[in-house]
Amino acid sequence: MSDTPFAGLTIGVLALQGAFREHRQALERLGVQVREVRLPKHLEGLDGLILPGGESTTMAKLMVAYGFDRALPDAYAQGLPMWGTCAGAILVAHEIAGNPEQPTLDLLPITVARNDYGRQVASFEIDLDVEGLDAPFRAVFIRAPRIVSTAPDVHVLARHAGDPVAVRHGHAFATVFHPELSNDDALHAWFLRELVAHRPTLEASA
Ligand code: GLN
Repeated sequence: MSDTPFAGLTIGVLALQGAFREHRQALERLGVQVREVRLPKHLEGLDGLILPGGESTTMAKLMVAYGFDRALPDAYAQGLPMWGTCAGAILVAHEIAGNPEQPTLDLLPITVARNDYGRQVASFEIDLDVEGLDAPFRAVFIRAPRIVSTAPDVHVLARHAGDPVAVRHGHAFATVFHPELSNDDALHAWFLRELVAHRPTLEASA
């Protein structure tokens, strides 16, 4: 086993659809065990879970088909830290603006509008100042959702053009960009540091 600060952690990546392989690679570079989560039973014993970018409508349908619509809120209630990125941020949100019928997991009290960054330029990159990171993070936005409202106790970690783009509430995190496509593992390392800090016993067993 490697002696990186994160050795001993097992992090799941929801692997129903989307950019889960790139998250897996980023996490492996940081020295954690990674598990692709395809069934609710794969949540057992995880220290954290990433919900990747992709297509949220497809993922939402697969989540219902496999029982994640119940298993993920249950795991969250039991303390499993979760990080939704891009489409994953839509999945963890409280509600989708303009389409409250599309089901969400309602883990993080934010409202998101799908595909809401620029109709002509659907994708772009910016250098973002993120609370907790030493250097600006190159953030890749791909048909990203916009966070249009947050509950008062949602902590905003980064903004772009005034809008929150990285947020946290309890042990739920959301970034509307794709942190796994930046050749920079700083945000993944930040997520691991946060979940270790919130479960101090992990440090002793790592
Ligand atoms: N537009 C996608 C959705 O609404 C999200 C895009 C992404 O994850 N890159 O599901």
